[in-house]
Parts: sequence; C-alpha cells; structure tokens
Amino acid sequence: MENITFTRDELKNQLQSSGVQQQELFERARQVRNNAQGNKLNIRGVIELSNSCVENCMYCAMRRDNRLIDRYTLDEETILSIADQIINAGIPTVFLQSGESAKSGYLLESVIPEIYQRYNCDILLCAGKKDAETYKRYKKAGANGYILKFEMSNPSLFEKTTGASHAERLSCIRSIRSSGMKLGTGNISGLPNQTLDDIIDDIFLAIELSPEFVSPFIPNNGTPYEKAPKGNIDLTLNLMAIWRIVFPNALIPTVSALEYIHPDGQAAGLNAGANVITVNFTPKQNRDKYAIYAKDRFVVSLEHAFKTAKQADMSLI
Ligand code: SAH
Repeated sequence: MENITFTRDELKNQLQSSGVQQQELFERARQVRNNAQGNKLNIRGVIELSNSCVENCMYCAMRRDNRLIDRYTLDEETILSIADQIINAGIPTVFLQSGESAKSGYLLESVIPEIYQRYNCDILLCAGKKDAETYKRYKKAGANGYILKFEMSNPSLFEKTTGASHAERLSCIRSIRSSGMKLGTGNISGLPNQTLDDIIDDIFLAIELSPEFVSPFIPNNGTPYEKAPKGNIDLTLNLMAIWRIVFPNALIPTVSALEYIHPDGQAAGLNAGANVITVNFTPKQNRDKYAIYAKDRFVVSLEHAFKTAKQADMSLI
C-alpha cells in the first residue's frame, strides 16, 4: 500500500482548495490515475434488489422509521433477467445493492451463484452488515467485491447519526477483507455536525482499510436531515482528488449524487481522478422507491455514462 503523501496540515489546506490551486490538485490526481491505470473509465451495472432496511441512519431514506416509502424486494427471476441485460449491454460487472435485511441477504445467496455460473462475470455487492461466515459464502458463490462504507471515522458522530455501533461496522469491514473479496469502503462528506478534522480522520482511517469510495451528502426526503444543506461539491471533489493521489490503483466511482448536486457533477468527479461510473438497471417502478440520495435522485443511463466519459475525455472499458 502507498504511504500518504500529505501531512494533516497539507490535507486541511488541500481540502479547502479553490481556483488555480484546485485545478493543480485535480491535474495531479488525473496524472496519478493515468500513470497507474490509464485514462480509462470502468463501468458497472447496478440492480437495487430491495429498499427494506433494518438500520435507521439519519441521512438515508431507506431508514426503518421512514413510513413515506413503499418497500419492495425484487424476485429472483427479475434480478436474473436484469443481470442478463447488463451483460448484453457489454458491461462486465453486475453490482447488487440493497438495504440491509435478512431477506435480501438470502436472496443474494441464491442469485450470486446463478449469475456467476451463467456469465462468469465480476459480481460486486453492497448490502450492509453480515456475519463473517456470510461474507465467506458470498465469496464462495462467486462474488468478488463488497462495498461497506465506514461512513464516518468519528465513533460518536457515527453512533449519533446512525444509531449503530461503530466498532461493529469496522469489524464487518475487516471480515469482508478476510473473506477474500475486494473491499470497497469510504465516507460521506458534508454531513451535519461533521468537521474538517473529522474528514481528515476519515482519510487516515481509509488508508488503514484501503478504500475505493467517497460520496457527498445529499439531504433526503423523509429523514431527520431533509432540511440540511446539501454537501459541498468542492469539498467532495477535493477529497476525491486526495484519495486518488493516496491510492493510485483504487477504483473510485464518480457517484450519481455528484450529478444531483451539480449539472455535469459526474464529469467533474472524473476530472478529479475518479474512474468508475455505475449505470442503473433497476426497473423504473422500483427505482423511484429506492430513494438513497434523494427521491428525485439522478438516475444514470447508459447514454449518460457515454456522454460523461466523452466530457472527461476518457475511454470506456
Ligand atoms: N445499507 C447498506 C447499503 C446501501 S446504502 C449499507 O449500510 O452499506 C449505500 C450507501 O449510500 C451508504 O453506504 C451511504 O454512504 C450512502 N448514502 C445513503 N444515504 C445517503 C445520503 N443521504 N447522502 C449521501 N450518501 C448516502
């Protein structure tokens, strides 16, 4: 693993960079990315299996106390036919994302081996906390990556914001690592009550865990944070660029939330060093109910992915 090339003071300074300094930061991030991995944009197809969730995070509309959304869980046949569409579109990674529940956990156990046997493709998961044995079974069934963000490195901020245990979340992240799946992790930036020092600590924690993800904060309807200010796009882009410089070989997504807070926000993410875009394949009627980020969230189509790659002058792979 690379050693961090920034001190705490440098991080503070770079996180707040603007104007010419910011352009230089982004330029450096692009150079690091292109030297390590080429000027290539990786593409994933996501299926959002279920919006049922046992957690109660203050920022997320899938939180269990939110009575304003209709809960759905896709059936196995629907999931498999969408996986087929993803593969037929030439996309090499099927990304299965879900709220955290026993039901979606079991569903994964049956669809992972089917998808793997049919297409021998990359299977990436993001479905919350599971026990160590479950992560191992997912790996054995054919999944090769799992995203579980630590969200916040500050334990008391994490516990106040999510109502869950920080130690348990970190222990799950370590179990994913030992299952042999690739680990995706990261934070949310721009949350209410989060300081710049908290974000610097997030970077140091990420270095310990080996990251590939950062996402801005978007206030969500039906959550206690619905009236909070949207995350600051410059802070997020600066953080993404720092992340890229620290981790030349990481896959760093330019998340749809960037497009929601700013037009062409995803192209800006690529200009700051990201190299992954996720296209949404969830059926329309369910997609509107899978309200992470926001009810009127930006939904990435294949056309939008092509357009974004072109804007950032990257080739799609
Ligand atoms: N429940 C699962 C996975 C689904 S949510 C889990 O706990 O991992 C996937 C990610 O969406 C979360 O990790 C969180 O970082 C992000 N997210 C949810 N609501 C958000 C919001 N309002 N703003 C920014 N990111 C959000």
